[in-house]
Amino acid sequence: YSWRLGVMSSVMDQVSRMGTYFIEFETPFSWHLRAVNRVLYSGESKYQRIAVVEFKDLGKALVLDGKVQSSLFDEYVYHESLVHPAMVLNGNPERVLIIGGGEGATAREVLKWDTVKEVVMVDIDEEVVRVSKEYLPEMHGGSFYDKRFKLIIGDGRRFLEESSEKFDVIIVDATDPLEGGPSYLLYTVEFYKLAKSRLTPNGVLATQATNMAYALRVLSVIYRTIGSVFSKVRPYQSYMHSYDAPWGFMVASDTADALQLTQADVDNALMRHVKGNTRYYDGLTHVHMFTLPRHIRIALEDK
Ligand code: SAM
Repeated sequence: YSWRLGVMSSVMDQVSRMGTYFIEFETPFSWHLRAVNRVLYSGESKYQRIAVVEFKDLGKALVLDGKVQSSLFDEYVYHESLVHPAMVLNGNPERVLIIGGGEGATAREVLKWDTVKEVVMVDIDEEVVRVSKEYLPEMHGGSFYDKRFKLIIGDGRRFLEESSEKFDVIIVDATDPLEGGPSYLLYTVEFYKLAKSRLTPNGVLATQATNMAYALRVLSVIYRTIGSVFSKVRPYQSYMHSYDAPWGFMVASDTADALQLTQADVDNALMRHVKGNTRYYDGLTHVHMFTLPRHIRIALEDK
């Protein structure tokens, strides 16, 4: 390994001369190096390490446990992808539950819908919400202060266990399912059954479904887990420069199929109900997101 260590240390020498860099460990074999302008906040909560970092290319970003969660560069791609397909599929979402979503940007997208009467957001970590409110106003866009918005600090699964409230759309915007992490139990059959029991008859569930380049296996496990509970589950993807990867999402329902939505269906729904612009999502983008390449379709069916 000596030549590799030599290469590595000369790279590190050059990097340290260029300024401050942040290393994100994607896998044991692949790291991302990001140039840092400044660190606006760094701390630790009961659940995770939290930082708000301004990167030279991505702008301000929320970083949890060393992983970039969202950045000003392309957070709209992630949040529009997560929210709007489920909302369009439901057609008339009045009550929406967000599990996770600490930055407030998922709520921002939900609140663009004029059908929405109430958004309940349950995030386990009060500190993520406090830090996002203070340091990431561009991301929440005031959603925390909308009169239709209600914040509950607590575990999303426990919230569903203890309440009998019904929702038209449930959106899971939690951290990746790492064993021992706070979101691990949000990706189980038990959780999806519970969520389904809290959905109205045409209810829709959406979740982020991790990195499609490095974690295709995780995507297929989430796909089959949700598929054992809902009759119509559709995976889709959007490329995220902040994660240097195509990112996976899943939308599930017992009544409506996201693959049946045409470009015109989506454009009409957005025109009728969405106040303010979407930058990424529209009818054509919908068709693009749900048209998966062959290797992913094969991986999804892999038992
Ligand atoms: N965009 C991110 C990504 O890269 O996947 C996810 C968004 S980040 C804001 C995830 C949020 O989920 C965090 O605020 C975290 O506190 C919250 N979270 C994790 N586990 C949770 C749980 N069991 N219940 C509620 N919120 C949870």
